[in-house]
Amino acid sequence: MLDYDRDNVPVRGQRFLAFLFAGTIGILLILALWWHLIYLPAERKKLAGELSQCRKNLEEIGNAIEMYAYGHSWQYPRSIAQLTPGYLKAIPSCPSAGFDTYSGTYQVFNDPHDYRDSCFTIYCKGHHHELLNMPEDFPRYTSKP
Ligand SMILES: [Zn+2]
Repeated sequence: MLDYDRDNVPVRGQRFLAFLFAGTIGILLILALWWHLIYLPAERKKLAGELSQCRKNLEEIGNAIEMYAYGHSWQYPRSIAQLTPGYLKAIPSCPSAGFDTYSGTYQVFNDPHDYRDSCFTIYCKGHHHELLNMPEDFPRYTSKP
């Protein structure tokens, strides 16, 4: 036999709905906690590692460009494709993008009067590190004249 409240609705159905509502809220709370305490810190750590590797890639390319210039009368290469295989095994890929974001960004500023004032810049093209609040086309590597 069912109990009825004063609006003539079965009490057992109300209890079930309250249980369902509390269960749903509980599951949502657990998901929110998992998201903030486990997923986001792990994701941030992974993205920070990728950014660090991207910076290392740029440094490696920058060092290879300097080595190339050292072996070519202080002339920088016209493109970073000239660095392989003599100065770099291969052009690295940005770990966040999954492909080479560097090749199209290489720019040389040649000073015709004094090679020591020439410099170059290279960067990771795109928004691949924006989740870590990096602006577009960062990180960058610029040689020191
Ligand atoms: Zn990158």
